[in-house]
Amino acid sequence: MKKNIDFLIVGAGFYGCVIAERIANVLKKNVLILDKRDHIGGNCFSEKEPSTKIEYHKYGTHIFHTSNHKVWKYINNFTKFNNYKHQVLSNYKNKIYQMPINLETINSFYGKNFNPRDAENFIKKKTKKFKKNNYLNFEDKAKSQIGEDLYEAFIKSYTTKQWGTNPKNLPSNIFNRLPLRFNYNEDYFNNCIWQGIPVDGYTKIFENLIQNTRIKFDTLKEYNLEADIKPKYATIYTGPLDKLFNYKFGKLGWRSLSFKKKIVKQFDYQGNSVINYPQLKYKFTRIHEPKHLHPERNYSNKSSLIIEEYPNNNFKEPYYPINDNYNRSIHRLYKQEINKMKNFIIGGRLADYAYYDMDMTISAALVKFEKINREFK
Ligand code: UDP
Repeated sequence: MKKNIDFLIVGAGFYGCVIAERIANVLKKNVLILDKRDHIGGNCFSEKEPSTKIEYHKYGTHIFHTSNHKVWKYINNFTKFNNYKHQVLSNYKNKIYQMPINLETINSFYGKNFNPRDAENFIKKKTKKFKKNNYLNFEDKAKSQIGEDLYEAFIKSYTTKQWGTNPKNLPSNIFNRLPLRFNYNEDYFNNCIWQGIPVDGYTKIFENLIQNTRIKFDTLKEYNLEADIKPKYATIYTGPLDKLFNYKFGKLGWRSLSFKKKIVKQFDYQGNSVINYPQLKYKFTRIHEPKHLHPERNYSNKSSLIIEEYPNNNFKEPYYPINDNYNRSIHRLYKQEINKMKNFIIGGRLADYAYYDMDMTISAALVKFEKINREFK
């Protein structure tokens, strides 16, 4: 096989597998995918927990959501989605609130009974003194949107735990991921046209993506630039760039996660797939209960699986890029090295050092394939 490789793809996440599928089915060329892990799917990998048979997402709950018609149409060739709609709750001082912050959160937190207009005026007063033309960091931005009380309760400590730093050190755009609503809508991804969970789990999508016999997949394979695999046309690398270049310009900052699984002898532990714990006294940020992701499945009523999520700094398992100026400048240096290389393509969350959702990654892979198609046809 090694002699017959037209394209080498490093990393079996969405970016790598979507490009592999396109190359095999449209360009009709041979592909070898390597992954350092023992499975396909990158951080979207899902499997059944052996004793409860509950499908869970090994690297944290992933909800597929998009408004990109091209992506939605494409991915539906490889899976059906159930009608799951994501709702998140936050447990603050042993009381449950809705997230993102909506009218119910505001009324319940302040003990009010505001209508939407009253709530908006109320928050306007709370945020007035924090309004600026330009927000330099996460905390500034958050206070200007929701005011100090809600920020202190639901955001400040959660963000400190999640990112391992004071929110003043974080870019303001992370806060843009959290909408503020003056109505009772509790759909986390209300801004997207489509959402759901793949009915057969995420891993099945990846198996379907790489079904073509022109695609070979090899597990537990670390890639380096000295590797003796030389593809005929190009290499598509989706891993972190600092590692690729032996950290010669320094290490990129990543926030990582670890998970603690527990089986509880209860049909339903928390009544929802994710509950956030914003207080510092809990070392975890949230508890996942994956049973709720598949309401269409008939799970046993004897037990449930719960998973606590703990952020950490393990750079060997990178999840979230610490996208500050320092790290971006290092990433730029690595990218300049890539630009000097011939037929070496990069992309995806790790290589781009970007906080992509799944649909953004798929979209970027489809666009990149168009370029590959023009160049190597
Ligand atoms: N966040 C928070 N409190 C919450 C939920 C989120 O402070 O209850 C902040 C936190 O900084 C997080 C960011 O909002 O990193 C984005 O949240 P999102 O739910 O999009 O994070 P993801 O699910 O991608 O980890």
